[in-house]
Amino acid sequence: MSPPSPQTVGRTTNEEVRQQNLSAVLQLVHTDGAQSRSAIGTATGLNRSTVTGLVTELIDLGLARETSAAPTGRAGRPSLGVAADDAVVALSVRAEPDAVTVSLVGLGGSVHSRVRHDLAGAPSPRRFAQNTAALVDGMRADIDRHYRLVGAGLAVPGLVDNAGTVMFAPPLGWKREHIATRVETALGMPVTAGNDSSVGAMAEARFGVGRGISNMLYMDGSLNGIGGGLIFDGTLLRGTSGFAGELGHTVVNPGGTKCACGRRGCLEAELHPQRILNLLNRRKLDEDELDIELGVVRDPAVIAEITRQVDVLSIALTNFVNAFAPEVVVLAGYLGVLLATSRERLSNAVRIDPVASESRTVRIERAHMRSHLMQIAPAELAFARLLSDPVACAPPR
Ligand SMILES: [Zn+2]
Repeated sequence: MSPPSPQTVGRTTNEEVRQQNLSAVLQLVHTDGAQSRSAIGTATGLNRSTVTGLVTELIDLGLARETSAAPTGRAGRPSLGVAADDAVVALSVRAEPDAVTVSLVGLGGSVHSRVRHDLAGAPSPRRFAQNTAALVDGMRADIDRHYRLVGAGLAVPGLVDNAGTVMFAPPLGWKREHIATRVETALGMPVTAGNDSSVGAMAEARFGVGRGISNMLYMDGSLNGIGGGLIFDGTLLRGTSGFAGELGHTVVNPGGTKCACGRRGCLEAELHPQRILNLLNRRKLDEDELDIELGVVRDPAVIAEITRQVDVLSIALTNFVNAFAPEVVVLAGYLGVLLATSRERLSNAVRIDPVASESRTVRIERAHMRSHLMQIAPAELAFARLLSDPVACAPPR
């Protein structure tokens, strides 16, 4: 067999480079919003004529569009800019024990619409797929008329492997369930499933407080438990089979409260919002309501429980910061509420204890995107292929 001619190698390489460059430009306008061509050049390191060619191709593919008022970052005449075309959309589906929520999300992270179906109890996988299909059917006419759909992303509170199989989701009672395939059949479109905290971490890294940060540790808490996601060198750490980031099952109190996973004293069992809700005599409060309640609380029992939980959280965070040395720790949901009540106590505990000197500079931030986060986050799963290979995956016009 003769070696490939240099010309063939050269052409293949050029095509690969072009694909990578198209991907880089599309990623940039997707996460950072409208950009002038010169800003795209600065961010990507590509020269003016290359950027012009790439932008033209993305516009021809219907993935980007011209905008008249790109932010130039300084005063003066706004230059003609480029934005992701938000008529290219993905469905963002969220599975929770008490609801199925579907959002229609445009490239660039804008939410066009959102529908929610409340449930009396956790849905079976079959019921969940049916509910999702019914919600999507209701959106279908609008989608067909105005948008170009790439597929759906699905966030599940549980262990989801790289093939989209839910291995175990205690809040839903699902075990070894091929949920991505099931929903794909019900919707008739490609579906990618992932762990809800992992997709939350990804979205917060792209659109929220983690933007521009290479190493980030993300943790969220809710009545469904505590999850996490680790972003390293800009990439979500997946681990074997995709199960990395299950930080909620870190044991912080051996012999403590029994956890849904079967062990005792896991972080998510020791640090559960239900304990606070019981003390407040409330059945359910969302993040914003809890913020307000805990901001004015005077009851010593509630304050003592908050303090206990913050101290447990600081033990866990100190371990994570020592193990992973992130630049930023991002706390979302209930953990964001705890941070707001006790920022100084938590920051001081985490800052003083770590052994590595760089840990002393770690920032602890609350997630920026709040409830908006989980509307757009699952869509990122569906956009992933398009963003990495815009030419091959652009939906037909
Ligand atoms: Zn556990």
